[in-house]
Amino acid sequence: MRFPLGLTLAVSRYMFQQSRRRAQRYPTVLMLEPLYTCNLACIGCSTERHTGKLKDRLSVEACLESVDQAGAPTMSLCGGEPTLYPELPELLAGLIQRQKYIYLCTNALLLDQKVFDVIQPDPHLIINVHLDGLQATHDYVCDRAGVFDKALEMVGEAKRRGYYTMTNTTVYQETPMSEVEELCELLMARNVDGMLISPGYQYASVERDIFMKQQDIHRKFARVMTLSKYYPLTATPAFLEFCAGQRQLNCAPYSTVTRTPLGWKAPCYLIDDHYYPTWEEFWNSVDWAYWETRQDDKCQNCYMHSGFEASAVKAASGNFKDFLNLMLWNLRKPSGQVKPPAAPPEEPQLAAAAGD
Ligand code: SF4
Repeated sequence: MRFPLGLTLAVSRYMFQQSRRRAQRYPTVLMLEPLYTCNLACIGCSTERHTGKLKDRLSVEACLESVDQAGAPTMSLCGGEPTLYPELPELLAGLIQRQKYIYLCTNALLLDQKVFDVIQPDPHLIINVHLDGLQATHDYVCDRAGVFDKALEMVGEAKRRGYYTMTNTTVYQETPMSEVEELCELLMARNVDGMLISPGYQYASVERDIFMKQQDIHRKFARVMTLSKYYPLTATPAFLEFCAGQRQLNCAPYSTVTRTPLGWKAPCYLIDDHYYPTWEEFWNSVDWAYWETRQDDKCQNCYMHSGFEASAVKAASGNFKDFLNLMLWNLRKPSGQVKPPAAPPEEPQLAAAAGD
């Protein structure tokens, strides 16, 4: 299966419960950002996520209270860099005790010091390593030499130690798809459990013009659709069709709610129009109907997984053929042994284009 069986069952059970109570909107993922401190300052990352002080982090109690309030079965533990959170073992223990499935979203630089030998592998824990391309591209995006080598080494070591290990790759304007394909090969050689490949969001605070416009996204993700048949990519077929311009979807910003040191971030993971101090204020104040329609200027060119994957699953669930496709897609995990057909010729690498 593309996802662990326990996670698939937990999410299915939760969605069934929500549909029985006829809930129209509910969160399926909590983006839990206990700190806005990072040991990197990646060029595609919003500035507030790596400039915060460690002393301003959320307490473990505040994190767990947010988890209980949101009620989502899965969480992305990110930040900032979550391995810098001093109370990480305590927080993970509290999440696992609540039977939550956790993606520990990390740049992997400190996995050997803060996770291995400290936090044991667990069926609820998924180590999710950020890797935005091969060495030149990833080091350029992370603005530091050596980050790619370390991350790749840690992916191999995490697998060797028995952690369920995935990767997360953002595709930028000048990322050639041939490079994404080479990265898939490299990761399959390390027996990685799954890979998320998604378009980046054009943060207002990022000045460099590195993000894709709609046409680039459609073209590149038509190729990602092909790759998903050969590698264990974790974005669903309906979401990839949306990215490839073959399907329209409304946004579901409420499906991925974000708790930060500044409060509950609204309206979505990407836009920080407002931070609410309490869950009730956040959930009841955001004009979800407005943001669903994508009519806001900030939603143009947005194809973010956090906004649209839940809509893709919901759309697939309402159509027998799409639902069957979704089930088969989850059951059939490609081994990477069979290679995809050759792609059309492409553009220069991101790092090369940047003059590195
Ligand atoms: S379309 Fe994108 S930017 Fe707009 S609300 Fe949805 S996730 Fe946020």
